[in-house]
Amino acid sequence: LSPVLFPALTEAQADPDGPGAHRPALRFGDRSLTYGELAAIASPLAARVAEAGRIAVWATPTLETAVAVVAALLAGVPAVPLNPKSGESELGHIVSDSAPTLVLAAPGTQLPPALAALDRVDIDINADIDVRGTGAASPATGAPATVGLPGLTPETPALVVYTSGTTGPPKGAVIPRRAIATTLDALADAWQWTGDDVLVHGLPLFHVHGLILGILGPLRRGGSVRHLGRFETAGVTRELSEGATMLFGVPTMYHRIAETLPDDPALAKALARARLLVSGSAALPVHDHERIAEATGRRVIERYGMTETLMNTSVRADGEPRAGTVGVPLPGVELRLTEEDGTTAVEAYDGETVGEIQVRGPNLFTEYLNRPEATAAAFTGDGWFRTGDMAVRDPDGYVRIVGRKATDLIKSGGYKIGAGEIENALLEHPGVREAAVTGEPDADLGERIVAWIVPSDPQSPPSVDELADHVARRLAPHKRPRVVHHLDALPRNDMGKIMKRALTHD
Ligand code: ATP
Ligand code: MG
Repeated sequence: LSPVLFPALTEAQADPDGPGAHRPALRFGDRSLTYGELAAIASPLAARVAEAGRIAVWATPTLETAVAVVAALLAGVPAVPLNPKSGESELGHIVSDSAPTLVLAAPGTQLPPALAALDRVDIDINADIDVRGTGAASPATGAPATVGLPGLTPETPALVVYTSGTTGPPKGAVIPRRAIATTLDALADAWQWTGDDVLVHGLPLFHVHGLILGILGPLRRGGSVRHLGRFETAGVTRELSEGATMLFGVPTMYHRIAETLPDDPALAKALARARLLVSGSAALPVHDHERIAEATGRRVIERYGMTETLMNTSVRADGEPRAGTVGVPLPGVELRLTEEDGTTAVEAYDGETVGEIQVRGPNLFTEYLNRPEATAAAFTGDGWFRTGDMAVRDPDGYVRIVGRKATDLIKSGGYKIGAGEIENALLEHPGVREAAVTGEPDADLGERIVAWIVPSDPQSPPSVDELADHVARRLAPHKRPRVVHHLDALPRNDMGKIMKRALTHD
């Protein structure tokens, strides 16, 4: 594995007058950088942070964040992207856990008290850019940080990314350079992703999806990314009409797209032109997938990954897109489903037998920072990572996630039932706008199925009997919800993931 993560950037650095240096790399709103400009800014910044032990990046959705992370990777200093919207206690937890010595932020940013004690380096993109790297911003040494990369190995930690905190407090996953390179190259294979691709991006930059796939992905390919700052469908229409080829989004974005499409022919036309529409981070409801397919003729493809594993599976660009599945294991990733004992493999490819997904491969993280017990518990003796996600496999190997072991697997009346398929069925009812399904203790059934819905019309929400009949007809009688709660909105985190632990009755 080459220590160079971004060949196009290295090339632009070595040949600032070459054609590669003038290719677009990053664009956020009306500010953009070519590869030459990115090299000219990131190299001196890399030299400045090279001595730090670990750096924090105040990860606003800006050009500065992208530059800071690239600089950290050039320097080989692990970076911790921080969610600027984190509450005080979550931020405090992450800062004390990861113990950065330095924080990188855009000039003028007001940082919260949790970061006050750290040295601060401002990322000054507006400083005169001299693409030869000899400008005012250059370090005294002038040594281009990408050349030679002394001391960097594939196992050098590149990033510490905190998990989304869906099932408990966020854990810091130590991600080595090897995992980033291999996951991005596996996606390039699956998606036929090249330097000619232009990505439309509207996600935050402190998780794997927005940062590693959405920023580092295009840079590794030598292509470019246009970030919307904030997701809105008008921006998607604009960028796809102006030559962008791919869209990465989370299911809440595709939901918004599905809702907007009937009144927005320009959006439909723009999506129809895209080479690839990709969804991940949570399950894309089948209903939204189908509505988008009807309006645009395009099927969103889903990929499945985690902070700890980066990407595991995807529907391939040259494969058959299928609603409700996350496709097949990526090149280099071993995947198996296991029985409850966590070691016996489920052999059946019958679309029915549920098992826990375990994965093994060069895409995996190294460890949870400061949590040796959690790290040990996450792996089997022979190196399989226990994802905590439950799935079935279709006869041709396509993986269908049914939900998380901890929150989405309901044991009712002797059956193991995944919340996901019931949620999908509920969402097909016209009276349901959003749905989440959980289990609660029941004297007869063990657990009973509970539906939390946001009704389409709060004035006349569908009754429990109506929804129970609807699900029983679509799936099976034992999968019908016994209790229905109405909410104004589902509790979701910044990636739109439903926070099931926040669903409580009162
Ligand atoms: P925490 O680990 O802190 O509880 P989290 O698991 O939500 O939070 P992430 O690592 O950001 O943190 O998310 C990974 C999880 O997201 C996966 O384990 C899986 O449950 C879910 N996920 C990701 N992609 C998909 C997908 N395409 N379909 C269904 N679920 C997905
Ligand atoms: Mg997790």
